[in-house]
Formats: sequence, C-alpha cells, structure tokens
Amino acid sequence: MTTTQLAPPSRPAPTGRGEMATAYDASVVEEALYAWWEECGFFKPSGVGEPFTIIMPPPNLTGELHLGHGLVVTIEDMLVRWHRMLGHDTLWQPGVDHAALAVNAIVERQLRGEGIDPKSIGREAFLERVWAFVNNSRDHIGRQHRRLGASADWSRELFTMDPGPQAAVRETFCRLYEDGLIYRGEYIVNWDPLGQTALSDLEVEHIEVDGAFWHVRYPVLDAAGARTDEYLVVATTRPETIPADVAVAINPEDPRHAHLVGRSVLVPTDLRPVPVIADSAVSIEGGSGALKVTPGHDPVDFEIGQRHGLPIISIMHPDATLNEAAGTYAGLDRFEARKRVVADLEAVGLLEKTVPYRHAIGHSSRSGAVVEPLISMQWYVKIEPLATPAIEAVRDGRIQFVPRHFERTYLHWMENIRDWCISRQIWWGHRIPAWYCDACGEVIVAREDPRRCPSCASEQLRQDEDTLDTWFSSGLWPHSTLGWPEETPELARYYPTQVMETAYDIIFFWVARMIMMSMYNMRDRGPQGSIPFETVYLHGLVRAEDGSKMSKSKGNVIDPLETIAKYGTDALRYTLISGSSPGNDQRLSEQRLEAGRNFANKLWNASRFALSLVEAGDDLTLPASSDVTSVEDRWILSRVERIATNANELLGKFELGEAMRQVRDFFWDEFADWYIELAKVRIRAGDRTPLPVLVHVLDTTLRLLHPCMPFITEEIWQRMAGVRPADAPGLIVAAYPSGDAARLDDEAERTMLALQEFVRAVRNIRAEKRVDAGRWVEGYIVGGEAASAARGAQSAIEQLARVRPLHIVDMPAEAPSEQVVTTVLDVGQVTLPMAGLFDLDGERKRLRQQIEEASKEVGRLEAKLANEQFRSRAPANVVATEEERLATARGRLAGLEQSLAEVG
Ligand SMILES: [Zn+2]
Repeated sequence: MTTTQLAPPSRPAPTGRGEMATAYDASVVEEALYAWWEECGFFKPSGVGEPFTIIMPPPNLTGELHLGHGLVVTIEDMLVRWHRMLGHDTLWQPGVDHAALAVNAIVERQLRGEGIDPKSIGREAFLERVWAFVNNSRDHIGRQHRRLGASADWSRELFTMDPGPQAAVRETFCRLYEDGLIYRGEYIVNWDPLGQTALSDLEVEHIEVDGAFWHVRYPVLDAAGARTDEYLVVATTRPETIPADVAVAINPEDPRHAHLVGRSVLVPTDLRPVPVIADSAVSIEGGSGALKVTPGHDPVDFEIGQRHGLPIISIMHPDATLNEAAGTYAGLDRFEARKRVVADLEAVGLLEKTVPYRHAIGHSSRSGAVVEPLISMQWYVKIEPLATPAIEAVRDGRIQFVPRHFERTYLHWMENIRDWCISRQIWWGHRIPAWYCDACGEVIVAREDPRRCPSCASEQLRQDEDTLDTWFSSGLWPHSTLGWPEETPELARYYPTQVMETAYDIIFFWVARMIMMSMYNMRDRGPQGSIPFETVYLHGLVRAEDGSKMSKSKGNVIDPLETIAKYGTDALRYTLISGSSPGNDQRLSEQRLEAGRNFANKLWNASRFALSLVEAGDDLTLPASSDVTSVEDRWILSRVERIATNANELLGKFELGEAMRQVRDFFWDEFADWYIELAKVRIRAGDRTPLPVLVHVLDTTLRLLHPCMPFITEEIWQRMAGVRPADAPGLIVAAYPSGDAARLDDEAERTMLALQEFVRAVRNIRAEKRVDAGRWVEGYIVGGEAASAARGAQSAIEQLARVRPLHIVDMPAEAPSEQVVTTVLDVGQVTLPMAGLFDLDGERKRLRQQIEEASKEVGRLEAKLANEQFRSRAPANVVATEEERLATARGRLAGLEQSLAEVG
C-alpha cells in the first residue's frame, strides 16, 4: 500500500513567518508553496480516516489545457482539499487519456506536412512518432495542472497506455468475449471516409446543411414482369445510392399502394427488377409513402433488409468513391456520382421533381467528413446486459446525479442504447487482442499473445489490425487506476470512489460507460460494492463574456496560464468557482477576473493590517463564550461560526460557488469593513481584548477559504506562526472549521445590525450633503434597538460615523426638530442638526445663486418652445429634445427650492 502517514515537513514553508510584504505578489508565492506541499507528501493519502476518492477525468493528450480544465481542476481540488482538512484519507487519482482518434489524426497531419504518407511508414514507425508526441504533451499537461494548484497524488499518475491499464483493457475484452458479450460481424457502421475508420454514434456530429429531396420514378412491372406506364415515386436525399437498392418498401396499411405488394419495380439507374415489400417501418403520412431499401448504405434499411432476408449491395470503397457494383458510376466520388445520377434520371424522364430540403447530416467529429453508412467487419459490445444493472444503480439511488435532472437524460439514453462498435481502423490505441489462424481459420482471443493456434498448432497467426475505441479504456478508469485486475490494497480501500466530477457533455461518452464497465468487472462485490462512484457531479461550460462558446477560431479563448500570470492562480480559481453552480454554464470576463484579484488583494491587505495590531506578549487565548462581553466581539464570533456551518453544508451539496461567495462577503463586508475598524478603535484606546478574537476569526476564515484559494491562504497562515493555533505544519492539512453552535449569538447579531444601520444612515446623510470626510458632526440616536446598541459601543460609533458629540436618547422630543436632517430606520431614528453639517449662511447663498441660474434656463426654454415658428419648422426630434431639457431644468429648480426651504 502506498499510503503513508503524514511525515513532518522536511523543511519549513518556503516563505515562512514574519513581516508581510505591502502588496501580495502571487508569482513569488505560488510555485514555491506548491513545490513545498508536494515535497512534504501532503498530496498523498494520509492512510487514516474515512476514504474519500476522486478519479480525475483524464485530459486528452492533444495539448493545451483550457479554462474548462481550469474549472475541473478547481472544483475537484476544492472537494479534495476540503475532505483532506476534514481528516479523511483523501486520494485524488490523476491520469491522462491517449485520445486515440484525435492524436492519431494529429500525427498523421504532421507526417503529411513533412510530405510523408502515414500509411507508407508502417505501424511501428508510426507508433514511434506518436510516442514522441505523447511524451512531450504529458509533461506539458502535468506542468499546467500544477500551476492550477491541483493537489493530486502525482506519484500515482497513470496513462491509459501504461502497462497496468493495458492489462485491464485486455482482461475486460477477454471476459466480455468469453461471456458472449463481444462479437464480430459485418454490420452497417458510421464510416469516416477521410479518417478511414468506423465511428461510434457518439463520434458523429449532426450538422444542418442544405440538401434536397429528389422524387424519383421507379417503373412498375405487371404480374408477368412487363413494364407498365405506372410509376412508384420514391423521395431520396442520397440518389447516388440508388444503384445499391434491393427493394422498395411501402406500409401494408397504405391504400395508395396496396395493389403493388408482391409486384416488382425497376431500379431507375440500371433497370434491374426489385420487389415491392410491405414493412410497417414506412411512414404513411408525408411524402409518397414509398421507401427505397438500400441495406448496404443505410442503418434503417439494413434492419429492414434483415427482417425480409434481402441481399446487401455495397457500392462504395472505404474512401467513398463508387466501386464496380455501381456499374457506370464506378470510380466517381460519392458527391460527383450524385450529380451524375440526377442528370441521368432527368434525361430519361425518371426524375419527377427536386424539392430543396435543409436537414441534419452526420459528420465525423474528428475529420469533419460527411459520415457514410457502410457495411464493414467490426467488433461490437452487446450492450443490453451491461446497461441493465447500470440503469438499476441510478434508479435505486446507489448512484446520484447532481444536478438531479441529468438522471433523466442518462436513463433515456441508456434505455435506448444500441450495441457499441468498439473497433477503430487506426494504429494508435489498444490493439484488439484477437488473432486469426491462416491455416484453419480459427479466431483466438487471449490474455497472453498466442504463439500457435490451439486448434491446429499452426504458427501462422495474424493479430487483428484494429484498435479499440478510446472510451473502452477510459470506461475502466475508476478501477483500472486502482490496480484492477490485480486485487491491490488500493482497490480494496478506495473503490467505490465517492465523486465523479466532469462536464455534462460527456455523460454518454464516459460516465455511462464507466458505470457499465465498472459494474461488470466489479460485479463480484455485490450491488453496493460494484458501483464506480456514489455521486456524479456535473458542472457547466465556461463561456466567453458574450455567452458564446470559447473557440480558437473565434479568437475568444482565455488561456489559463496567461490568466494566472496576470491575476494569480487564486484569483482565477475564485472567479471560476464563484461563477459556477451545478449544471449551469458561466460567462467569464476580465472584469470578473479583476474582481477575483481584488478579493485576493483585500484578503492580503486586511490580514496584514489585522496582524500589525498584534504585539509580542499579547495574550491571544480566546476566552470562553460566557467571558466575551463586547457586543462586536460576540457578533463577529457568532457570524464566523454561522458562516463555517453554512460553508460545510453548501460544500456537501456541491454548492461550491455559493459557499465561497458567503465566506468572501463575510470576510470583506463584515470582518474587514466593520470588525477590524471597531477593534482598531478599542486597541488604540488601550483595550487589547479584541486581539484574540481578531486572530481567531482571521485564522478561521483562512481555513474556510483554503480549498478555493490555497496559495494566498497558506502564505498568510504561515506568516501567522506563533499567533494562530499550531495544529498542523501547513494550512493544507490543518482542520477545517465545522461551525461551533455554542458561539452563535442571535442577540449580538441583531444589535450589530442596528448599529450598522445607524452608521450607514449617518454616512448616507454625510455623502448626500457633501460633508467633508474629516469633519466631526453632532448627532442623535433616538429610541429603539439602535439606542440600546449604541450605548454599548459609543466610541466605536463615534469613530466610524465621525459623529461627536453623540447623544443617545429614548424619546424624539429629546432631540431637536428644527433645521435638522432625520432618517427614520426600522431600529430607531437618526437626527443630525444641520448647523453642524455645513455653514448655513454660505449654503443659503450658494442655493439662491443656483436657483437664479436654473430659473433663467427654465425661462429660456419655455420661451423657445412657446415660439410658433420654432415649433412648426424644427424637426420633431429637435422639439422633443428641447421639451426634455425643459422638464429636466424644472426638476432641478424644484429640487434646489426644496433644499433652500430645508436650510430655512
Ligand atoms: Zn489453426
């Protein structure tokens, strides 16, 4: 077992305790701290506590990480860091996927760019080129993950092509084959004529294109086989496949065609007779009600053909040029053949009409070529026996989706799933472990490469040239990364894993297949033990500021590494998390990133200031709740515990964004803007009792924020050595606050709210009346909760609102009522005598002058608008503008007159 007890760090944190720099510089801190964490072994499972495991979705080897990866890393790292701090035995298992089709295409492109035909150099030389590309990309991806702060156990990193996962793939293939769940046969597949490989349904992208329905006349033969004047009209979007027609199908219930059943028609391109068959798959409504049946080139027709025992004609080569079976069209590209067929039909009067038609056509998601349904020999997984238990596991709640509605999407797809074509005609990937005996034709599927044929002992064996669909190996990831098929201690301890976190767009590609393949391989462990994970958490996409998808071609991609260089990793992580909620997309903008950086700076500056208040010799022991008397101390201690309780609850529900927004708002709006200010007043007056509270709340907030903003919190925490609790060598492995109910204090929270409202009201009046920031003004707090709260914090209020003298009275009659500004609040009343706010004589003079100017403006505009000549000659919009101006000027005049009346 590779889990180790946490060793003490081999050296202290790189930046250590001591004076904090005046400004936070992420570039100085982040890489050094990351190296220290990794060196201390903090990323490895501790071996103690309840296991918590996340398998990292293996990124494709195709190069750069984008912001989607940034979000994956941040979410998973947050969950992992949170559980690590909760004391769980936490494993975050990293890995990389070999991305068969994509990488194969990249290397083919590279070779063609060098003027080399990829097929000409042979399998081995080609694979050498791929490995060179792979090794380079792997390093790059690893570095990017580290820069994002991922605390994964890199000592366990795996690649889908490593020996362990290779063995898992082969074992799975053999088991499925032995259980009759893998078969090989000639079926119609989605064929990519450019990539020259079969594709699974999921690798086909449906894109709308302009096409047409060609209505083609099939001459009807009479019972004796002679051509009649009657035609059966068939509408098709792919006339080039007419030479492969083997029947025309009609619905048995369709009265228009009832007389044709049992007769024959002529295929219009080569006048070959084919039967008219009845099949209920043909729709009566819409169109002519007749369907040409082309089993060699259409999956629906393939099934009709099987039902009726029809022959199959295949008229295309793998590159989608037509072959000899297409007669006169042999040698043409499929789209050229389409034009020729249409022209020929028109020439002989067999084209009735052409109707333009816009429809979705399958394209290869890799090469972009239009997919051609073709008959070919492929390997398949019989999927229903695998899907059934995978559907059950979600139905009965053993596996839960967050957000919940994705369960419907999953179940709908799983209930309609078709057999999975797993063979690909490319060289890069896991080669299919099947051999063919040239001497006797035996097919051998084996765990070890066979040397001779078990049935005839011949050594003339050829291995199947095909490789497996990439998702065959990534479908095994939750157990193959833990050592399966070996019964390793890691498999025993960390399987089933707890959370599978990924983007919602790969539910079918990956999540569904992991559930099916894992439950099949791990079925000996029973219903609960066989599932690969308990929760599937699906996050949304990161979109550009205008809501569009980020893409290289649009030039709106935000590069995570450039962003980190500019804003710091913590700012990027906070921005991504605060914008995320389960299943929803988010928009990313420079403005949001700046807000993230501003928060990091606020965190640094406020912490630095708070710590500067602590002096050597201060007693920093936090008193018991009953010994805390000051209302603001009781308030902030209550608030921080409430926030900690909320954070844990929200993190448990995967509301990571909301959890961190609450902690941020608490730190900024309550701790920094209010508590530190209030504490400062008392400390400067010689009262040191706020210090233990200040340090405790700061320490708690750093712990709460650490999973999201690991670097800056660790850095501040290290600098607090000797001041805060020393329960761990690093914040990364310190305890996460759980929320102490004993410190909750509703009364103190209510009192502080009243006090805050009072101070805000004074600040608003000061801003409205443009009172100098430094000016002290006289003020009254009248009645209610504000008065009782204020009595306990008189000097603090005086400082925060700059009100002195401050009169706290119970009855309105005790405060002046003439020449005052009063704001009535829910919690009482604020009254400021105007004489204290500004020089009344000067103010009257200023107002009278402005009233005079405003009156003149009103007069001028009124005269202009009263002028008949202006009104009749000026364009309507000019008149409207002037009318608007007059209304504004009148409003201003009224406002000034009211102000003058208030001043008296
Ligand atoms: Zn043999």
